[in-house]
Amino acid sequence: MSPTRVLVLNSGSSSVKYQLLDMRDRSRLAVGLVERIGEESGRLKHTPLAGGGEPRETGGAVPDHEAALKAVAGELKRDGLGLDSPDLAAIGHRVVHGGMSFTEPTVIDDAVLAEIERLVPVAPLHNPANLTGIRTAMSLRPDLPQVAVFDTAFHTTMPESAARYAIDVRTADEHRIRRYGFHGTSHAYVSRATAKLLGRDPREVNVIVLHLGNGASASAVRGGRCVETSMGLTPLEGLVMGTRSGDLDPAVIFHLMRVAGMSADDIDVLLNKKSGLIGLCGDNDMREIRRRVDAGDEQAALAFDIYIHRLRKYIGAYYAVLGRVDAVAFTAGVGENAAPVREAALAGLEELGLAVDPELNAVRADGPRLISPAGARVAVAVVPTDEELEIATQTYALVSGESRHTSAE
Ligand code: ADP
Repeated sequence: MSPTRVLVLNSGSSSVKYQLLDMRDRSRLAVGLVERIGEESGRLKHTPLAGGGEPRETGGAVPDHEAALKAVAGELKRDGLGLDSPDLAAIGHRVVHGGMSFTEPTVIDDAVLAEIERLVPVAPLHNPANLTGIRTAMSLRPDLPQVAVFDTAFHTTMPESAARYAIDVRTADEHRIRRYGFHGTSHAYVSRATAKLLGRDPREVNVIVLHLGNGASASAVRGGRCVETSMGLTPLEGLVMGTRSGDLDPAVIFHLMRVAGMSADDIDVLLNKKSGLIGLCGDNDMREIRRRVDAGDEQAALAFDIYIHRLRKYIGAYYAVLGRVDAVAFTAGVGENAAPVREAALAGLEELGLAVDPELNAVRADGPRLISPAGARVAVAVVPTDEELEIATQTYALVSGESRHTSAE
């Protein structure tokens, strides 16, 4: 029998998240996380899901990604799921930036590695870590197909009118400055899962997807193809996020350089790590912010209002981009869990056919669900994202030679 397991690896600069799935029934066999790679006190959390084993946690220094992956391989082996198993069909890697080169999941070879490396200048934080993970996995199983699934791929269908910044064309082209968008695996999965929830073919449906996690992005999806998304050259553009500012006048940057004497690196840290909700009120967890708002904290209330205001601007903009909207889908940590965010984001938009039913919105559930009132012109949905399943599905479809199919189908 041909192998049916896929290991999904998401390698960050100091962490590796992983899931092992069996694609016969899309079940998870094991999930885990290695944290604080390169520090004295690394940690591996491993949860075997097949056979009902107990979660295991091990501490100690994890000097580099190779050590991290070897530790993961050791844990999987303990569960009889080792990387040397003939049941393993492929390893699927999340790669953040595929530029315009990669529009599809791609089997990794030397040329693909070189191209991901070439894109490092536009993704200096992410692509090097992704590459390290890939190279390490390839050294552990050189014979196994390894597939890159790109965060940017779903957005490569954006028209030039949406993808280009209005700056000098030669400068933009020379430095590959354009809007790429991120979270594409999630936007792809959720837009299709929303069509499925409506019982319709994704090719017939226009969806606004709101991926609201610690990082946050919106996308406008027409008939299954992305036509606009809120993140740009980097994940900094767009919505107010946990620690990122999202949109701002670019002149703020020159002003900080000239008037506050800050360097480019200082401003990079300010806008990516110390802005957004945490910069506005000192907290980036929406649960804590709502608790403070309910307790009458004005700073938290203002942060919440700024977050919601920006979100509503994007919903309105994407409504205009699409012309006809069939569904608005909320996903990721905040989108799936924070009923007050969903309520405030769409309050007073009945003229646009948008409404949230308070009772349905208050329901806590795991699966995809509608929260708009019966008969509403536009469906409003909560659709849990599943990037690992999508990566595994795309990886498996590629290596098993199946016709392309996706996890939400
Ligand atoms: P990321 O993958 O970008 O790190 P997630 O999609 O896991 O983020 O979302 C994390 C965020 O989700 C947290 O920072 C928190 O603000 C929010 N969140 C998680 N659970 C809840 C909840 N029950 N209510 C409100 N917000 C929540």
